[in-house]
Amino acid sequence: MSKDNDKKQVREITPQGEDFSRWYLDAIRKADLMDYSPVRGCIVFKPDGYELWELIQRQLDDRFKATGHRNAYFPLFIPESFFQKEKEHVEGFNPELPWVTEAGGEKLEEKLAIRPTSETMIGHMYSKWIQSYRDLPVLINQWANVVRWEKRTLPFLRTSEFLWQEGHTAHEDEADARRETMLMLETYREFVENVLAIPVITGQKTESEKFAGAVDTYSIEAMMRDGRAVQAGTSHYLGTNFAQAFEIKYLDRENTQQFVHTTSWGVSTRLIGALIMVHGDDNGLVLPPKVAPTQAMLIPIGPPAKREPVLAKAGELLADLKQAGVRIRMDDRSDVSPGWKFNEYEMRGIPVRIELGPRDLENGQAVLVSRVTGEKKTVALDNIVAEVQAMLDTVHQELFTRALQFRDENLRSVDSLADLQANNDKLRGFVLAGWCGSRECEAKVKEETGATSRNIPFEPKEQKTTCLVCGDQAKHTVAFARAY
Ligand SMILES: [Zn+2]
Repeated sequence: MSKDNDKKQVREITPQGEDFSRWYLDAIRKADLMDYSPVRGCIVFKPDGYELWELIQRQLDDRFKATGHRNAYFPLFIPESFFQKEKEHVEGFNPELPWVTEAGGEKLEEKLAIRPTSETMIGHMYSKWIQSYRDLPVLINQWANVVRWEKRTLPFLRTSEFLWQEGHTAHEDEADARRETMLMLETYREFVENVLAIPVITGQKTESEKFAGAVDTYSIEAMMRDGRAVQAGTSHYLGTNFAQAFEIKYLDRENTQQFVHTTSWGVSTRLIGALIMVHGDDNGLVLPPKVAPTQAMLIPIGPPAKREPVLAKAGELLADLKQAGVRIRMDDRSDVSPGWKFNEYEMRGIPVRIELGPRDLENGQAVLVSRVTGEKKTVALDNIVAEVQAMLDTVHQELFTRALQFRDENLRSVDSLADLQANNDKLRGFVLAGWCGSRECEAKVKEETGATSRNIPFEPKEQKTTCLVCGDQAKHTVAFARAY
């Protein structure tokens, strides 16, 4: 196959600088992660896409279990009356709810919503399960699909049906529930940074951006390579709002009836979209090693006459690396050129490539190639397991460092709306600005620039003193950005 053909698969991906959305859609299609379903706004997770989710799921689930949570499963359908019980919740979710009004050939007495989230169903169940302080805390998580009928959709980042986990906990008092809310926010931050190699800004949502029915919402916000934000996870302190709506009461240590304090927290398959948009480049996907379904691709090379001993050794290496826990595959097809394979696996984002040819074999070595830097490293076959593991660690580190550097370069501080607008024309990134706390000023920013308040960072790199809209004294320093 000619060099020209070798590059063909990459040419089919629009460069990021030309059209980032186009790049994203090309990259995920070429990497075979998903397909569009016949139902608008819904996608099919193909095996390579679903396996990413499984690896995310497994590693998050370990963290939930380690902090005392257990999994359960609640029904998909929620009676309409449940939504009427929490006023803000129903107002927040009503426009996005699909309803089942007929089943088994009959009109239902009460229509059923397909869950957009499960606070109401779980609140109802908790009111039956919790009687005394001895029943608390309840620490339950559910892995499930939810539906929010979206008008504008984008694969993984915004789809009408998506997969997620939702933790729902009940506690004796505010202090314990708030401790839980922050523990899970920190669990998300640690996971997204240490496993997905995505740096995040941790902070509190403003009143208008918080979850419908929450007292306080906290989020982690990530910056994509086009500068837009993705809310990568949220954790909510719900106070006694849902406890009052669903009468989740318990007898405390003094034998007095009290409402429980509840929390909820979730991350979803948006994380897949985020990791693609944070790490990908003009050659396609770059997968963070800890969730890459294939971490290393072994490619035997060389002329047919010298193939046999190379293939025999490659088989051994494959077995050794698998044994050591590396997710590795081999492409030993002889009718496809090495160049085509290199491009193909680069495009699919496989973190490390291993090349083994006849001369390498003679010298007792192999060549490792990093997907991030393209760096080639000749390593001794005797030491290959340690070398591959080391390169996977390096790839993770480089991805994180690169993403952090990009974010810091694109996190600016502004003093006025005019400043923000000037920035906005070429807006790539987040801005930090002071905010007086009024809804009007926050709404004005959105109206004028399309940027929304992402969160009030816990540790902003600079404390702003005046509101960017009205010029009054700032109550908070807020991160604003256009968001997916
Ligand atoms: Zn203001």
